[in-house]
Amino acid sequence: MKYAENILETIGNTPLVKMNKLTVELPCLVLAKYETFNPGNSVKDRMALQIVEDAEEAGHLKPGGTIVEGTSGNTGMGLALAAIVKGYRLICVISDKQSQEKIDILKAMGAEVHVCPTDVAPEDPRSYYSTARRLAEEIPGAWYVNQYDNLSNTKAHFLSTGPEIWEQTDGKITHFVVGVGTGGTVSGVGKFLKSKNPDIKVWGVDTYGSVFKKYHETGIFDENEIYPYTTEGIGEDILPKNVNFDIIDGFTKVTDKDAALYTQRLAREEGFFLGNSAGAAIKGLLQLKDNFSEDDVVVVLFHDHGSRYVGKMFNEAWMRKQGFVE
Ligand code: PMP
Repeated sequence: MKYAENILETIGNTPLVKMNKLTVELPCLVLAKYETFNPGNSVKDRMALQIVEDAEEAGHLKPGGTIVEGTSGNTGMGLALAAIVKGYRLICVISDKQSQEKIDILKAMGAEVHVCPTDVAPEDPRSYYSTARRLAEEIPGAWYVNQYDNLSNTKAHFLSTGPEIWEQTDGKITHFVVGVGTGGTVSGVGKFLKSKNPDIKVWGVDTYGSVFKKYHETGIFDENEIYPYTTEGIGEDILPKNVNFDIIDGFTKVTDKDAALYTQRLAREEGFFLGNSAGAAIKGLLQLKDNFSEDDVVVVLFHDHGSRYVGKMFNEAWMRKQGFVE
């Protein structure tokens, strides 16, 4: 018999799938690292498990303890899987721009969810960063994950996602393109791939309303770059420790409208029912087309599943309200 001992053992080893339609104008092979196949339907399962196991080892998390995190949903789902199997209480603090589906899913998985306003500064006591920190301090036996600055996040991708992509492409990968939020994915995968072949180019996909691209290009943290946006999961108004700017060759920014429209196109043209950051990632890759030539093997990573966006990018009324469709 061949079976996993528990759901956590099914994390990782996701497929790499060739893109056939959306990338026809490109000269190169484009392969999608399809992270939706993780049990929590996102790449974040990998780092959630790594972070919890590193915290256990370091003694931050004791049996029966409480995990607290500020999460846009996918990390919460990964943490929920780890909490259920390992017997922890989970509190997720989420911003009010996240989809209702994400909140409902976390509750379905037994997490307690606190919803905080999006349009306040990170240091404001009402922000989800501040609320998560406060709860972790107030609750006995609680431990704050802090996926932004906890380097176990990057480590998870250095140890699993990066090696998988290297092996699946037989070491032929030339470019890696990925949306950047906490930075764990780009930094871990990027560092691993460059350790194997320093010529591999690593591109981050950013949103309008986020500080990353300008900071990477100028070293200036420009507050004028910060404003609300609808794209979920990528871009930040802070500089997380998990973003390793040195391993990133460049950023490209994608508009909210393009991210939403390309999320729809991935579903309708490739059969890839994915989240909003996947639309941003593929549009970002297409914006970079002048960088690719015939023999290149470009890998784009798709973070999460479309089911979490049925009330948004897959809802025509929502798309009209945003002005993304006529
Ligand atoms: N897309 C989605 C849907 C996400 O949830 C995240 C995580 N914030 C990302 C992209 C970005 O990944 P990372 O945090 O590893 O940079």
